[in-house]
Amino acid sequence: MNELIDPENSNAFKSRLSLVDFNNLGFGTYVSDHMLVANYSKGKWHNAEIVPYANLTLAPSTLALHYGQTVFEGLKAFRMEDGRISIFRIEKHYQRFCRSLKRMAMPEVPFDIFNIGLQQLVKIDKDWVPSKNGDSLYIRPFVFASEERFGVKVSEEYKFIIFTGPVGAYYSKPLRVKVEDVFMRAAKGGTGSAKCGGNYGGAFFPTQQAQKNGFDQILWTDGTPQLNIEESGTMNAMFVIDQTVVTPSISETILDGITRDSLLNLAKDLGYKVSIRPLSVFEIIEAHKKNLLHEAFGVGTAAVTSPISCIHIQGKDFFLPEYDRNSFCTKAHKLLSDIRYGKAEDKYCWNTILS
Ligand SMILES: *Cc1c(COP(=O)(O)O)cnc(C)c1O
Repeated sequence: MNELIDPENSNAFKSRLSLVDFNNLGFGTYVSDHMLVANYSKGKWHNAEIVPYANLTLAPSTLALHYGQTVFEGLKAFRMEDGRISIFRIEKHYQRFCRSLKRMAMPEVPFDIFNIGLQQLVKIDKDWVPSKNGDSLYIRPFVFASEERFGVKVSEEYKFIIFTGPVGAYYSKPLRVKVEDVFMRAAKGGTGSAKCGGNYGGAFFPTQQAQKNGFDQILWTDGTPQLNIEESGTMNAMFVIDQTVVTPSISETILDGITRDSLLNLAKDLGYKVSIRPLSVFEIIEAHKKNLLHEAFGVGTAAVTSPISCIHIQGKDFFLPEYDRNSFCTKAHKLLSDIRYGKAEDKYCWNTILS
């Protein structure tokens, strides 16, 4: 892989780092100076290189724009207390990337291009990794069908790109969520467990409707009479019921979240019981009635945890107790952060520390 850049152009290269307001990063505002690009054609990946971040030129007939072969990942790099940079669970993200690609009939990216490429990219833009607690460098690998052709077909050409950007801690007030029983995010046999663009596109309209009616997010269900809970918006859903951390089992319709997996490990370390199983909305109502529904929150890379204050189920509001520093979601969020920033032991070897 080329370490860097078209040398003939390197004089023209000007860093945009000085334009970044590190006190007010937001989420998705800034992109770093470089990106990795690799192309797939004739059955293999080639020409992986790191180049200055720049726009792409695409033919209007580019297949991804019409038939939706697009898959992405999202992971983060952290500036540790001692100044070194750690990247969280690269291999687990890579494995999920490959599963998503396979489901969308797209070619897997070789591990070396993903892993070494990603590490080199973060190293080249290391000054973009923020140092404030809670901030991080968001890393966005993705593949899309780049063949120019308008007939419906599986693309024979693809582009793999990784870009990054510094992001701030994502604090939100506790959310008011609506249990959705009309629209579905995913169906058995569908693409719900793949991180493909279309899943997001399809969720926007129902989410907009919910927001018009005063909710922040949707709690997706499986559409069966039991109304089993699936995910919270674009995050996995987690509950604390009677001192047990409960989360729906991974299925074809639920994305296998890496934050979810990490927090389930930490739950045991924090002394909580863990229960992974289908969870019906009616069980939530029962637990609430008995005052045993202590917490409900979404979990995902962007926000880590996103607490829920009210669950709206078929016309009725069910309020949750307030969250404080003794809540599981607060303690688990803090422990996960401490591991990522090198303040707590990384006993599961989740961090890749850049040399
Ligand atoms: C990415 C994603 C998640 C969270 O996964 P993480 O690996 O924790 O970031 C959950 N649900 C959906 C639909 C997602 O796309």
